[in-house]
Amino acid sequence: MAVLSAKTYQNYIAGEWVDAASGETFHSTSPANGEAIGTFPRSGEEDVKRAVAAAETAFEEWRLVPAPKRGEILFRFGQLLIDEKEELAQLMAREMGKVLAEARGDVQEAVDMSFYMGGEGRRLFGQTTPSELKDKFQMSVRMPIGIVGVITPWNFPIAIPSWKILPALVSGNTVVFKPATDTPALGERFVELLVEAGLPAGVVNVVHGGGGPVGEALVRHPDVRVISLTGSRETGVAVLKAAAECLKHVHLELGGKNAIIVLDDADLDLAVDGIVWSAFGTSGQRCTAASRVIVQRGIYDELQAKLVAAAERLRLGLGWEDDTDVGPVINERALEKIHSYTEIGKDEGATLLTGGEIATENGLDRGAFYRPTIFGDVEPGMRIAQEEIFGPTTALIRATDVDEAIRIANGIEFGLSSSIFTRDVNKAFKAMRDLNAGITYINAGTTGAEVHLPFGGTKGTGNGHREAGQAALDFYTEWKSIYVDYSGKLQRAQID
Ligand code: NAD
Repeated sequence: MAVLSAKTYQNYIAGEWVDAASGETFHSTSPANGEAIGTFPRSGEEDVKRAVAAAETAFEEWRLVPAPKRGEILFRFGQLLIDEKEELAQLMAREMGKVLAEARGDVQEAVDMSFYMGGEGRRLFGQTTPSELKDKFQMSVRMPIGIVGVITPWNFPIAIPSWKILPALVSGNTVVFKPATDTPALGERFVELLVEAGLPAGVVNVVHGGGGPVGEALVRHPDVRVISLTGSRETGVAVLKAAAECLKHVHLELGGKNAIIVLDDADLDLAVDGIVWSAFGTSGQRCTAASRVIVQRGIYDELQAKLVAAAERLRLGLGWEDDTDVGPVINERALEKIHSYTEIGKDEGATLLTGGEIATENGLDRGAFYRPTIFGDVEPGMRIAQEEIFGPTTALIRATDVDEAIRIANGIEFGLSSSIFTRDVNKAFKAMRDLNAGITYINAGTTGAEVHLPFGGTKGTGNGHREAGQAALDFYTEWKSIYVDYSGKLQRAQID
């Protein structure tokens, strides 16, 4: 299969595949076994400038392409993603590490977004309203903004670029895309398929390279009007500060410390399934991962026993092998960070119930594998219950009742996802109202968004914008209000 051979990739600028101006390169390797994935241009400010210039030129024509025609390109892109789904999933299992079922889901999310946003080409609804004056018509329309800088993380390497690039494009913007340096091959395949779908030169450009040399250059470039970033809180704050000087529109999707609440009346087996999927799926490296489980005291012991048993049944392995449940984490640095939190948890006095170690058996030492880890007896204020670990580690916290559980769930700096398992409709509705998060699930884990609802978080998870759904269009367009006076005389609003 093509993905097995390491290949040389390039930037895509103004419709041409080109090397970095410096001629320098970096490598992408598999976190599962160190296998070489490819060599990529190590770009810098010069490359960003060229890409922005290309996007600026392309914008003048792209914004005039009728939106339904722009949407048709997205439909073709969606079909290409379907055709290439297996190839992309295989590449993702290798370059990013997630297991095939999840990798296919990652691609499917982009398929869904393609068709949803393709359809927006025939909507992009504005409003008409009556006028307070006679013989006057008025409406609001969505306008494209210009050049959008898209900066993405490695954990959803096809889905997240689709959340940003597709609404930006259907709205008539042009894009400069910087994929994460851990998953550049997937970023490049994404763009290759967009090109194959018929996107004109310059409408999407990809510039590979690091957060400093490429990301920051993009954020600071005065002609880039919009920045959409998904990443860590620290990166988000740095980007917001850097973009402030030019008053850019900035959309930040940042970290999480998501909690699942399990009440005494819950279906425990269902809750365990939800926790395992949310805490250990993608090796805990989802922004919506459940890194806290808040359990009502009456069922704490039973839930803990069932959960530990379920976690110990999970098979670590290569993502592309059928019997693997949990793949590697993204790299050695992440492995060290995750393990350091195990030490922190022990030092804080939490009880390590299972896991807590780097897995090395059966050749896993060639990759970055961490055993699914559960801490019990965790207090809400402990660092392992407050800080984003971004690995397969979850913390069990006791609560007396639903009110205390919600208070604990809310007692963190983030506000992305949340969940409650209960059969009591009153408590479920209370949770829907009172959990301070952008997403709440009832009787399901903390993960699994659908593309036609807004996605994002409150508090330290972001800066108030949302991906997906109609909310995405609000970020990638600006409103223009248009008044048409056909009275033939000067009519003055608020005066006549
Ligand atoms: P990261 O912040 O290290 O990197 C994200 C992207 O930003 C990368 O492309 C990186 O190169 C770039 N970058 C880094 N510094 C930059 C700078 N100063 N200026 C411009 N760009 C810069 O994050 P990561 O490790 O790739 O991803 C993990 C983080 O992403 C976690 O915190 C996770 O919760 C978060 N995340 C959030 C969501 C969400 O929707 N809320 C989704 C997925 C991941």
